[in-house]
Amino acid sequence: MPSKNYVCIICPNSCEIVADFSGKEVAKIIGQSCRKGEEYVRKEIVAPERGLTTTVPVKNGDAALVSVKASKTLPKELIPKAVSAVAKARAEAPVKIGDVIIKNVLGTGVDIVATKNVSRKAGINTGQD
Ligand code: SF4
Repeated sequence: MPSKNYVCIICPNSCEIVADFSGKEVAKIIGQSCRKGEEYVRKEIVAPERGLTTTVPVKNGDAALVSVKASKTLPKELIPKAVSAVAKARAEAPVKIGDVIIKNVLGTGVDIVATKNVSRKAGINTGQD
């Protein structure tokens, strides 16, 4: 049965955990100091998820890019497609922290949201004046 080593990222202890598993069937997990470590490794084996942070170009902003993140973790296998979807996105200034740049990315129920404020470039009419 294959074995794989993990470093638990749930807390700063960084426990080194070894799991024996076949496919998604977990036989043994050792090295964790608490239940959270076991849960982390089981999830890594059965349904790994990852966060996503990147940037999106901003039209008419006082900065060219706005940093964004996924509102929740995404299934690891969807990360490349999510990155492609975000790469096509464009924001229009002003952008505020928490603004949804892409709603329900890839039908996951997860939004891509701004993590930075970007003001409108001076001299550009908002159309609301
Ligand atoms: S197993 Fe528990 S104690 Fe060890 S790093 Fe993970 S959360 Fe922290």
